[in-house]
Amino acid sequence: MLGAALFGFWWALLLVSFASSIGATLAFLVSRFLLKDWVQGKFGNKLTTINQGVEKDGPFYLLTLRLIPVFPFFLINLLMGLTPIRTAVFYIVSQIGMLPGTAVYINAGTQLAQIDSLSGIVSPGVLLSLVLLGIFPIIAKVVMNFLQKRRVYSKWQKPVKFDRNLIAIGAGAGGLVTTYIGAAVKAKVTLIEKHKMGGDCLNTGCVPSKALIRAGHAMHEIKRSQEFGVSAGEPSVDFKQVMGRVHKVIAGIEPHDSVERYTKLGVECIQAKPRSFPRGKWK
Ligand SMILES: Cc1cc2nc3c(=O)[nH]c(=O)nc-3n(C[C@H](O)[C@H](O)[C@H](O)COP(=O)(O)OP(=O)(O)OC[C@H]3O[C@@H](n4cnc5c(N)ncnc54)[C@H](O)[C@@H]3O)c2cc1C
Repeated sequence: MLGAALFGFWWALLLVSFASSIGATLAFLVSRFLLKDWVQGKFGNKLTTINQGVEKDGPFYLLTLRLIPVFPFFLINLLMGLTPIRTAVFYIVSQIGMLPGTAVYINAGTQLAQIDSLSGIVSPGVLLSLVLLGIFPIIAKVVMNFLQKRRVYSKWQKPVKFDRNLIAIGAGAGGLVTTYIGAAVKAKVTLIEKHKMGGDCLNTGCVPSKALIRAGHAMHEIKRSQEFGVSAGEPSVDFKQVMGRVHKVIAGIEPHDSVERYTKLGVECIQAKPRSFPRGKWK
């Protein structure tokens, strides 16, 4: 802002843009040469995913961080120095990413420099430039979200029309609850399950484990019975019978998670394994 007051908008934009990008790159290089080997050596295993992410999407992440100033820039410079991002990429993306923000600040600086009386503080130009300072990160966030969305969906062709409001893949606890709520609010809902309705919780997780634990409790209580003056003899386990009861408990709950119940609730249930269709391959 001071630069704008001294040099005017365009000269300040040129000088500040290059100065800040060069300064950021110097900080980046200091971090890279002093700390990178040590950090990568010490946390290399844990950093593998981050390193791969930076190699694949580093420029986009950096651009986002530059446009939406959530983290202080000095931190971004130092942390980026620890990742495998190339110095030239860091410099170019930083210069481009910081340019809009720099322009907003320099604009504010030129407006503030023109204030020569108290009434000048509330002039439309000054107020507008201050508002712009405030809303710039919000605009940048909306733009970056839009670009991110386009990147994510670029591999798939957008259907001409949507036949469903909600499709859940997997009829486990998550899919069942989601589609139940969807159907309750009259959405068009499809539930796709490749194996058994109820997922882990009903078939291999919560329900069978609790039924098994219940048998364990019974055994434990019998073993302790003499403490309470009760004689129950030496307990024995018929594991076949224990598992028979486990399956009975599952069968008792099964109707709640069944295709029949969910169909009655208005959910279209499909037994299948869905596939995704890359762009152009949709039939
Ligand atoms: C032994 C054990 C005990 C547990 N006890 C409890 C407990 O007491 N309380 C508790 O709250 N939680 C408990 N849990 C955890 C609970 O089971 C899980 O949190 C819950 O099942 C997760 O539900 P989900 O819908 O996310 O996934 P899941 O239940 O795993 O369901 C996923 C479903 O998706 C299907 N599926 C996967 N891929 C595809 C595909 N490509 N196409 C179509 N279908 C697909 C699978 O066949 C499966 O039916 C326990 C878990 C275990 C293992």
